[in-house]
Amino acid sequence: MATVELDGVSKAYDGHPAVTRFSLSIASGESLALLGPSGCGKTTTLNIIAGFVEPDAGSVRIGARSMAGVPPYRRDTGMVFQSYALFPHLDVFGNLAFGLIMRGMPRLEIAERVRQVVDLVHLTGLERRYPRELSGGQQQRVALARALVIRPTVLLLDEPLSNLDAKLRQEMRVEIAELQRRLAMTMIFVTHDQEEALVIADRVAVMNRGRIEQIDRPEIVYRRPATPFVARFIGDANFWTGHVVVTHGGQASIETADGHRVVALDDRGSEAGAPVMAMVRPEKIHVGAGPTGLENVFTATVKGVSFLGAVTRLDVVIGEQPFAIAVHDASSVNSLVAGQSIRVGWRAVDCLLLEP
Ligand code: ATP
Repeated sequence: MATVELDGVSKAYDGHPAVTRFSLSIASGESLALLGPSGCGKTTTLNIIAGFVEPDAGSVRIGARSMAGVPPYRRDTGMVFQSYALFPHLDVFGNLAFGLIMRGMPRLEIAERVRQVVDLVHLTGLERRYPRELSGGQQQRVALARALVIRPTVLLLDEPLSNLDAKLRQEMRVEIAELQRRLAMTMIFVTHDQEEALVIADRVAVMNRGRIEQIDRPEIVYRRPATPFVARFIGDANFWTGHVVVTHGGQASIETADGHRVVALDDRGSEAGAPVMAMVRPEKIHVGAGPTGLENVFTATVKGVSFLGAVTRLDVVIGEQPFAIAVHDASSVNSLVAGQSIRVGWRAVDCLLLEP
């Protein structure tokens, strides 16, 4: 059953569309990431669900109930803001109790609820501290706990981890994902960090200019991006433009604009002559002798080698076309120098066809 449903929602500011005919259905207990570049309408979408922004058109339903004219505090949603927006003059207990006091809950019950949520996000012992006396990660936990304490049907998070350093972000990512599953909460969170989306979300909606380009499970969005925009936004991608020469047995032979032949997977039924972009991920390109039976093998010229820690990035050109290659065993490419000719190749099944 859908807990949150947006149907044809649009919102413009001063004639500039922020969200355009946006439809989305989120199941109960599901976690969805709204992912996209700055300004694509993620926060606006979240604010429309929370009730802080009124859409110009379309409808929002939460738990099958229309939200038209329903103010934020009556929506059964909890929101975690990017800036946390903790009350600076209240200690942790005061911050967490605030929403419950506003709802007129008896004192004893408030104390018990706050105790539970403090325990849940590992803040025990810090109840009397003020926000300024907490680390970034602890403040983030208070913001999360403050949203959770009212036990909302839907938890909304706007870039909740963006103020944390890389290590803490990775830890909190896992904690939020674990918490969401344990409490079986419906969760929608905004991020522009693709890794965060892939780790936390059951489904990822990739947004571009106020619309959804693709919505699916993380591994599908990564392995089968629907558009070049999605392919670029989730992970790195190499593109080669060209047209289809012939298709056969689920594969297509492409002639690139610079006259190379590429064999690609064709599970969408391309037609001969159609303009396409052949896409291959950096980690799918083999260097050197590599495995046998690669349908695509080319001579490339080395441009540079960059050691990035877990992987080494090798930049090459095939003819004039630049390619990035991710190599896991640095020792295999360390000795390469710019200008050197090498053999590179990839399998047809690792090469997707996208509409340009
Ligand atoms: P970011 O990742 O930078 O937070 P976003 O994807 O969340 O971006 P939104 O904040 O939803 O994007 O903004 C979408 C568009 O609407 C942007 O062009 C933004 O400038 C515009 N916009 C958002 N809020 C307002 C507002 N209150 N008044 C005018 N324009 C706005």
